Amino acid sequence: MKIAIVYGAICGGCDVAIVNWGEKLIDIAKKYDIVYWNAAVDSKLEDLEKIDHINIGIFMGSIRTDLHVKLAKLLRSKSDIIVAYGACASYGGVPGLATLTRKEKLIKDLASTITTEKIEEEDIPDPAKIPELLKTNYALIQIIDPDIIIPGCPPSSVSNEELAKFLLEYQEGTRLKEKIVFGEENSLCSICPRRPEDLHKIKMPGIYRLYEVKLDENKCFLEQGIICMGPATRAACKAPCIKNNHPCVGCMGPAPGVDDVGLKYISSVASLVMVDKEKEILEEGLAKQLDKIVDPIGVFYKYTLSNSLIAKLAKKSNKRDEKK
Ligand code: SF4
Ligand code: SF4
Ligand code: SF4
Repeated sequence: MKIAIVYGAICGGCDVAIVNWGEKLIDIAKKYDIVYWNAAVDSKLEDLEKIDHINIGIFMGSIRTDLHVKLAKLLRSKSDIIVAYGACASYGGVPGLATLTRKEKLIKDLASTITTEKIEEEDIPDPAKIPELLKTNYALIQIIDPDIIIPGCPPSSVSNEELAKFLLEYQEGTRLKEKIVFGEENSLCSICPRRPEDLHKIKMPGIYRLYEVKLDENKCFLEQGIICMGPATRAACKAPCIKNNHPCVGCMGPAPGVDDVGLKYISSVASLVMVDKEKEILEEGLAKQLDKIVDPIGVFYKYTLSNSLIAKLAKKSNKRDEKK
C-alpha cells in the first residue's frame, strides 16, 4: 500500500509531529511504501502526477497558492483516503489569519517588514515562474472533501497514536475507510483537570491578561478572568497547555456542534463576564471589559478564520468593493 504526504502552506510543525511517531514510523514504513514526502525527498508536482494510485494521501497545511490547489485536487483524485492533517489543513490554521487582509496589502506588508537579510533585486523571483498567491487562504476542506480530519497545531500525540493504529489496521484489512474527525465528541472542558463543578455557573471577574493575574493553578482560567478557548474547542489532546498553566488557545478546532468558533465564544464570554455585577456595570461597563481583549480576531479565530462566517462576509464585501 502507498502513502503520500503532500504540503500546502505549512510551517513544518506537522512534519515534526509525524517524525515524532519515532519507532512507529518504522512499523508504518514496513507496511506502506511512502511514495511522496517533501521532508524526506524533494518531491514535486510532476512526481505526484507520475503516481497511479495512492491508498492514503496525507495533506498538511492550508491552501494559499494555485500549486496547493493542484496538489490537493490531484491527491484527492488518486487517493482512496485523504487525511487532512493539522489545523491548517482542517480549518485554515494560522495562515488563515491573513484571510481578512487583501493579497496586495499582504505582499506590501511582508516586503516592508522583512527582518532577515535584505533581498537583492536580482534575487526576487520572476512572478511568472512561482506559484500564484490566491486572493485568500483556504482550509483543505474548502477545496476537496477529506475522509479523516485530524485537528491540532500540530496534531497531538493522542491523535498520532490513533492515526498510526488506523493505518496499520487499514493495511491489515481489519478497518475500513471511514469519515471521521479525530478527538472526543466533546469540548476540551470535559477533560480539563481545572473544570469547575458546574461549567454553566462560571463567572468571569472581568477580563485580564496573563501577566495581570497571580494564577491559581487549580482553578479554571475563565474564573480568573483569563480567556481560555476550552469551551469552544474539541477535546483532541490531553490538555497539555492547561497542565502547563497556560490557557487553551483552541488549536484542536471547533468542539462538536460548533460551526463558528469565534461567534460561539464571543456569545459565551459576553454572558460570563461580571455576570453577578451586570446591574452595576451596565452595558457600558461590559463593553469596557470586552475592549480589553487585545486582537479579538487573533484570539477567537487563531486557527479557524479561513472557514468562518466572518471570512465569508469579508469575501462578499471585497467582491462588492472590486465591482465599484
Ligand atoms: S497545523 Fe500548525 S504545526 Fe501544522 S503546519 Fe499548520 S501551523 Fe504548522
Ligand atoms: S475554560 Fe479552560 S480552564 Fe476552564 S474548564 Fe474549560 S478548558 Fe479548563
Ligand atoms: S490545550 Fe488547547 S491549545 Fe493546547 S494542545 Fe489542547 S487544544 Fe491545543
